[in-house]
Amino acid sequence: MLTLEDALERILDGLGETDAEDVLLTDALGRSPVVRRLVAAGDVPPFDNSAMDGYAVLAADGVALRRVMGESRAGAASVPRVEPGTAVRVMTGAPMPAGADTVVPIEEAEERGSELVLEAAPAIGAHIRSAGHDVAAGAEVRLPDAALSPATIGLLAALGIATVSVHRRPRVAILSTGDELVAPGLPLRPGQIHDANGPALSAAVSEIGGEPILLEPAPDNPAIIEERLHEGARRADLLIVSGGVSVGRHDHVRSAIERLGSLDFWRIAVQPGKPLAFGRIGERPIIGLPGNPVSALVTFELFVRPALRRMQGLTGNGRPRVRARIDEEIRTDAMRRAFVRVRVEADGDGYRATSAGGQSSSQLLPLAAANGLLVVPEGVAATVPGSTYEVIVTGVLA
Ligand code: AMP
Ligand code: MG
Repeated sequence: MLTLEDALERILDGLGETDAEDVLLTDALGRSPVVRRLVAAGDVPPFDNSAMDGYAVLAADGVALRRVMGESRAGAASVPRVEPGTAVRVMTGAPMPAGADTVVPIEEAEERGSELVLEAAPAIGAHIRSAGHDVAAGAEVRLPDAALSPATIGLLAALGIATVSVHRRPRVAILSTGDELVAPGLPLRPGQIHDANGPALSAAVSEIGGEPILLEPAPDNPAIIEERLHEGARRADLLIVSGGVSVGRHDHVRSAIERLGSLDFWRIAVQPGKPLAFGRIGERPIIGLPGNPVSALVTFELFVRPALRRMQGLTGNGRPRVRARIDEEIRTDAMRRAFVRVRVEADGDGYRATSAGGQSSSQLLPLAAANGLLVVPEGVAATVPGSTYEVIVTGVLA
């Protein structure tokens, strides 16, 4: 059995990045830019402007009365000049009138007739946003090593950029295998279950920026499995198959991969998820996940998620990790690193984890309730109440 690190390294090794495509900024959320350094073409903001609704003045006039000479509003192309003894009304974002060096907020001033009365002498330079105070023209802007966020999209827009070159979404063919599978929505006959992995893995692919291609599920039939794998290799950058990778009499996925390409490994020391196959069909990498839905999703988290990030030019799995105390004893397989489904929440200065429910790899209900995977190292057969463990945060941390 391979360790998690060795298995992950073998999967990531030789995974290519997808090519680039240009998308409108409005379609760029969650996409990974190909270039993360750019040079600002102009100042942001482009001109000195007021940070407040108020009055542009000269600080040197102190508390002396000032004559109000007009206004500067947002978008104004030309505004009156401020001379000693005068003031100009300014709105937030409006260009600073030439001559003025200070803005007095409207709350600290009062207009009496045509004259302005100040409560106190203003501090020079107050409430002015100078040109380039956010980004200076010519400055190198480094985008975070992450998928584009609303804030980064806003930054690019403020810089005047309308389209961005991003990695094409990796196309991922998803194949569920098993004689027992029926599409959700259809009635079950004796012995049948609904295909949970197809929709779940498709959602997991979308969530990490991939483009899922859900293939028609295959029965436990070698010829049909091979046909589907061919189709997947033709249509996608990466294939993921669930079910049929273990050692049962009707597990045909590994032998199909061997016939069509090559199998690198198929067993890992991870709980849940011992059977995990990795290989290639022609050029296309293929990952065979265990059939149990919890195992399929946890191994997706551990192996497929970083793979899809790598293909989009990103590193790691993009999940925060915290240390959390647990007060329960949860038994795990000492031979394998275990990923216990937990609810993790802030508790005093740290975090506390509680079991999200049954830890069987067939129980989706607790996985759906969990927001973290608590890591129990190899060589340990249970969590020790009162001890802290690393938790991969997979959901919202309350
Ligand atoms: P297998 O890996 O084919 O031995 O399957 C292990 C367990 O996972 C069996 O109980 C299967 O019925 C179940 N299983 C396999 N594929 C799916 C699927 N797509 N949706 C839900 N359960 C599945
Ligand atoms: Mg099966």
